[in-house]
Amino acid sequence: MRIIDAHMHYFDVDGFKMLAQEAGHENTAACWQQICEENNIVFSVAMGNSYEPNPRFGGVTPRVINLAAPFNCEHFNQPANMGYCLGVESDMMTVQNAEKTAQEFEYYLSHDKHCVGIKFYMGYNNVYLNDPRHQPLFELAKQYQVPVAMHSGETANHHGKLKYAHPLTVDDAATEHPDVKFVICHIGNPWIPDAIVTAAKDENVYIDLSGMLEGKISDTFLQEQAGYFEYLRMWMQYLNNWEKFLYGSDWPLVNIPDNIRVLKSLVPEKYQDLFFYQNALQVYSRIKDCLPAATK
Ligand SMILES: [Zn+2]
Repeated sequence: MRIIDAHMHYFDVDGFKMLAQEAGHENTAACWQQICEENNIVFSVAMGNSYEPNPRFGGVTPRVINLAAPFNCEHFNQPANMGYCLGVESDMMTVQNAEKTAQEFEYYLSHDKHCVGIKFYMGYNNVYLNDPRHQPLFELAKQYQVPVAMHSGETANHHGKLKYAHPLTVDDAATEHPDVKFVICHIGNPWIPDAIVTAAKDENVYIDLSGMLEGKISDTFLQEQAGYFEYLRMWMQYLNNWEKFLYGSDWPLVNIPDNIRVLKSLVPEKYQDLFFYQNALQVYSRIKDCLPAATK
């Protein structure tokens, strides 16, 4: 089974080193390539986390990737089998600097085909997705045909406010920007029906299942959480549109073979190629230009 991991991280930070070890991996570029090889992950999309310090146009610079540093707007040196989403630091943005910020983002989109999307960190930033300051970034997403991904649901720290991370907030932006694809990351967990109703209503809204699991997954854990996984499966089946769901891991937070095994059990076999591969190509459509001809 070929896989595109539509949501992982490629970020050199101490916290990730520890989490990677708990998941049975190392947070290194070499380890990620080995995992890809062993699990037939032919492409992955890294969500930008690290700060690119040098603005070119006086805007807020995008958050990028740095596990195999240096990476910046002069050195697009990610692995050939990886794309990335530019991360948005919404708290630093204003309506006044929004256009210049969009110029910073456009530099990557126009110079690097591996730049495949824009990631918003709602719930870490205390701003709603559809805030006026974000509008030039939505225009950019439309122009370059890249999706907007939004963190939704639980957060990993206590700094932000949860109301900004609610999946229903994606409906506001998706309704006003019908030409842009939106991805509700983490299926809004645990606001799962709210993510489902948004994807059901809005043709341009998709869902990724990254971050549903952490570490190594034991049979005891699966038995204890059997009710949760049945609930998740029920709502996925309720939507009954298997073109809406994307596989993602949130690596390095989870053991990859465990993550694949558990998520695979939620998807009927005849839809697994959509879930693990085809849907990512449709949503993150620039991936098609990055894949070697043989794998398209
Ligand atoms: Zn993530």
